[in-house]
Amino acid sequence: MSTNQSLKPLTLHVNSEGNLQIGGCDLVALAQKYNTPLYVLDEHTIRSICHDYKEAFKSYPKVNMMYASKALCTEAVSAILASEGFGFDVVSAGEIYTVYKAGADMSKVLFNGNNKSFEELNLAIELGVGRVSVDNFFELSLLNEIAKSHNKVVDILLRITPGIECHTHEYIQTGHLDSKFGFDLTQIDEAVELILEQYKNLKLHGLHAHIGSQIFETTIYADEIEILVKELARLDEKFALKLDEINVGGGLGVKYTESDVPPSTYDIAEKIITSLNKNIEKYGIEPPALFLEPGRSIISTAGVTLYTLGSSKQVPHGKKYHAVDGGMADNARPSMYQAEYSAQIANKPEAEIAQAVTIAGRFCESGDILIKNIQLPEIEEGDILCVYNTGAYNYSMASNYNRVQKPAMVLVNNAQDDLIIKRETLDDIVAHDIIPQRLQKND
Ligand SMILES: *Cc1c(COP(=O)(O)O)cnc(C)c1O
Repeated sequence: MSTNQSLKPLTLHVNSEGNLQIGGCDLVALAQKYNTPLYVLDEHTIRSICHDYKEAFKSYPKVNMMYASKALCTEAVSAILASEGFGFDVVSAGEIYTVYKAGADMSKVLFNGNNKSFEELNLAIELGVGRVSVDNFFELSLLNEIAKSHNKVVDILLRITPGIECHTHEYIQTGHLDSKFGFDLTQIDEAVELILEQYKNLKLHGLHAHIGSQIFETTIYADEIEILVKELARLDEKFALKLDEINVGGGLGVKYTESDVPPSTYDIAEKIITSLNKNIEKYGIEPPALFLEPGRSIISTAGVTLYTLGSSKQVPHGKKYHAVDGGMADNARPSMYQAEYSAQIANKPEAEIAQAVTIAGRFCESGDILIKNIQLPEIEEGDILCVYNTGAYNYSMASNYNRVQKPAMVLVNNAQDDLIIKRETLDDIVAHDIIPQRLQKND
């Protein structure tokens, strides 16, 4: 059992008031104190999954854990992961800057992405990012130029597409052959030749792959390892090139609904380490350092979102809708990939189930439905809905659609609640607007 297999934060229970509480904090009281929608993050659950990963992989001597920041990148979250000894996989200047401001060891940061800009690569070099995972030929040449202008040799990996299909939603598959990410296996030799012969300001350390997200199969990790190890052996033979790092990406799934059964960190570690040892032997290479980049599985379970229930509508002979004060702008996943969620009413979690209802968002799109057909007790206006497993890819994908302010985020631990992201104000909403002089009223 590992933390990603839990639907709810580990510290969740019903308190003596009959309300849900997390990290020793009453969720109804948090909703009153900070208003809703509100993201709540349980520190104990985050630290627990970090521990699960470290325990699961401890039998392989050279393991490096990196947190894929895109799942949820804030300074406080980065500080927690850094204190657990994690490095960071980052994909933009904004993420680089956030982990830098949080005091992360920049040598443990990997910059990844399929179209990094000149400014972003420049910032990565200036702030001492440890590795750049180069995605394509254009970037190889661009990065070499920038490195040369800084008089530096930049440490890189090559992002490759291993040609593995995993059974997850099409939008979150990344390792299949016609993916937009990375070098095709047939392009690696040309990239390596360019690095060895022309791009003197780049130093290649290893290969990087990432096969997808919300993965429930464990065998594809074994397949991925074999492809990476085989490539290391082949490149050594062909170019006498000793590469000693492989990065297998992230992707471990989480439990959004009761019917989801993701594998544990221990299950994937067993598959990865067994395959690694077997293939090291088979292809006769020195054991490489292993890098993992979990995002979702680190942060999803720790997060919940609190909403206040408002209006409702009974379609004659049809559905019963209840609307909340948030929706697709704070959680894009249901409208973007038909993602499913589970929820309870925080102020009466143990009340008898009355009906199947549909939870609608407040945004002006018919597709803004958060949860279809969920069994809940009788709902009254003002009830607080607690949606589980919203730590990953919720705040990080949030928008200001309909010019609604982004919610606040609170970190809870040992009965203490700390604001880690302020709720946006109306002035934040107009902060970047400019009215041209000629349109301004001059009376
Ligand atoms: C998105 C991504 C991850 C994290 O994926 P999760 O499914 O959130 O674990 C890791 N590595 C790379 C390269 C990614 O693009």
